Amino acid sequence: MGEVCVRVAVRIRPLLPKEVLHNHQVCVRVVPDSAQVMLGSDRTFSFDHAFGPTASQDQFYESCVKPLVASLVDGYNATVFAYGQTGSGKTYTLGGGHVASLVEEESGIIGQAAADLFVLLGERRAADVRSAADVRVSYVELYREELRDLLELHTAHRELHIREDDRGNTVVVGARETVITSAEELQSVLEAGNALRHTGPTQMNERSSRSHAIVTVQLTQHNHDDGSVRSSKLHLVDLAGSERAARTGNTGLRLKESVHINTGLLALGNVIRALSDPHRRGNHVPYRDAKITRLLRDSLGGSAHTLMVACVSPSHHNVTETLSVLQFASRAR
Ligand code: ADP
Ligand code: MG
Repeated sequence: MGEVCVRVAVRIRPLLPKEVLHNHQVCVRVVPDSAQVMLGSDRTFSFDHAFGPTASQDQFYESCVKPLVASLVDGYNATVFAYGQTGSGKTYTLGGGHVASLVEEESGIIGQAAADLFVLLGERRAADVRSAADVRVSYVELYREELRDLLELHTAHRELHIREDDRGNTVVVGARETVITSAEELQSVLEAGNALRHTGPTQMNERSSRSHAIVTVQLTQHNHDDGSVRSSKLHLVDLAGSERAARTGNTGLRLKESVHINTGLLALGNVIRALSDPHRRGNHVPYRDAKITRLLRDSLGGSAHTLMVACVSPSHHNVTETLSVLQFASRAR
């Protein structure tokens, strides 16, 4: 209790076929039998978990995310966020996008978490028929510090507001919540939402993500014996690409996007750092600096469990960006 729990996992994706074709060299590796990553031949970074290109979605889920789903059922809030440059594997790891290629991929964190959640709830119900639970999902996008509802096609322009209720719970006022009763239902709800996601062309990647996408699974458990109600939630966050404005050659609108993206990512880094620094415990945590940290406030720190997944490309072409992601991630511990 009272123990702040932020864990950091690094995942190095494999070289993509086109990178192999163009002779890209691998510049970052997992140090065998450790949670360390080596960049080049002399720079080492330590994390709670490190996964190389051969790690499966299952392995990743089982060791990093499964415990958070169990704690969700126990009544604790949790957040998983994927950080990294565009093309590093954030969406692949979360398993929220790429509808077309979904069949050939093993399911990512979101699908596995939902499947696990319904198994655990089924077990609870089997053990105690007087218990009941409902699961609701919301899916919002944060683009240039503006929130948009990805589950509300017709009122997508409606303003959403972040509020804190008197018990310290963060609520996105106006966001649609859809009741789901299976992992498959969640998948189809998210697929509908993905069609609305902001993407835009940059010089660096033809369809890079310019916004943060936040899936929230809200669990409410009722105990009919004593009339108690327990609420908890799990946020699954696909952050905007971490690459800097200068590198992508952005100007105008794209530059403005980058400024907002950097503000959000910087604020998130500062919050995580404040939470994981033992000397700063009890001190000010700068949640209010950006919408992303305000939104996640009740699920970062306190009794909540947080997993940061730092995704990196193995290619030597991305070495500068990979270095900055590894530095960001290792400072979070
Ligand atoms: P991001 O969301 O960070 O921009 P993506 O998740 O879209 O990156 O990944 C970029 C590409 O790399 C995609 O083609 C994806 O299928 C592939 N990829 C990412 N991670 C892995 C992995 N662990 N194994 C195999 N392919 C991967
Ligand atoms: Mg993506």
